[in-house]
Amino acid sequence: MSNPILSIRNSVKRYGPVHALDHVDLDVAEGEFLTLLGPSGSGKTTLLTAIAGFTDLTEGNVSLRGRDITKEPPEHRDFGMVFQGYALFPTMTVRQNVGFPLKVRKRPASEINERVDECLELVQMGAYADRMPSQLSGGQQQRIALARALSFKPQVLLLDEPLSALDKKLRADLQWELKALHDQLGVTFIYVTHDQDEALSMSDRIVILKDGKIQQAGVPDMLYNKPRTRFVADFLGKSNFLNVKIKGRQGDHIECVAGDEAFPVDATGHAGTVKDSAEIALRPERIRLAEPGKELLTGTVKQVSYLGERCQVLLTHSVLGQILVSCPTWKSGIDPTPGLQLSFGWDTDACVILEAE
Ligand code: ADP
Ligand code: MG
Repeated sequence: MSNPILSIRNSVKRYGPVHALDHVDLDVAEGEFLTLLGPSGSGKTTLLTAIAGFTDLTEGNVSLRGRDITKEPPEHRDFGMVFQGYALFPTMTVRQNVGFPLKVRKRPASEINERVDECLELVQMGAYADRMPSQLSGGQQQRIALARALSFKPQVLLLDEPLSALDKKLRADLQWELKALHDQLGVTFIYVTHDQDEALSMSDRIVILKDGKIQQAGVPDMLYNKPRTRFVADFLGKSNFLNVKIKGRQGDHIECVAGDEAFPVDATGHAGTVKDSAEIALRPERIRLAEPGKELLTGTVKQVSYLGERCQVLLTHSVLGQILVSCPTWKSGIDPTPGLQLSFGWDTDACVILEAE
């Protein structure tokens, strides 16, 4: 990446025997919406707070536009932060909360007032300037926390699971708003979440963490469609995992065998050497169901679950075991009921050969 706004190099954070960060290298582009995604305990908060300056790294360094800031205290870095809890000052009004970072920076009162109004408009809370935090809902408090973090025009905004305490519907609305705000302001966002849908829907790029290490980084559709490992395929969306024998490469295909069934897998983008056996990830929505004989494989319906827009069908296959299929309810054309025999198949580019972890 040329001219990253932030570079984290070889960063390690140890807490006794625990490696909260284990040799993490990461560049963040100017204006990017970057998401750190991973299960609880994977090191997301540690990485974010190391960037903010609240966590001292055991090894490695952080630089801002090429300048080493590893030893700089948080107040010199000037990054905005929004946390999971609504960390508003309970005894201050909304206006005082949002203006606080500017007051600390000794800006004149008239400028503070003007900027507070601007920021409250940004988060659509202009009418609430005189309220106390306790008079606001969770979602409103989080908007104020966001306005406060933006008030001093930080060059980077760090957000640690800011929506995780909100209910599902409100969270979805605020995801749209945060993304729109990012696009409008052009500020670099580094966003922490353990929610894969949130990561997929908002990010320019996602970094997947596990045990303090980066598992894979990339744009959402690349990560979703070309996961490198089982962990990534499983964490980001649902996947079927098939154990297959590999017969070899034929042009742009790899011939895979499971029992007495053979099927080709698209080899484009698969740089790894072809081994004798492999694990393959196959997304449930990439599998087609049809009348017996119309597709490659035959299975028996074990269970069906209706989800409104989609229908999930669990099939059993004599060699592959259980296969989850997700089909849009409006066009399935067949009516899967337990016990029914169906054929199923997929396009060659639906399968991804995984690397061993
Ligand atoms: P996440 O935000 O992804 O849930 P964290 O960065 O909070 O993960 O934690 C990563 C690991 O570091 C965990 O194993 C956690 O228990 C450990 N850890 C984090 N902070 C501390 C601390 N202050 N003292 C000891 N261990 C910590
Ligand atoms: Mg955390």
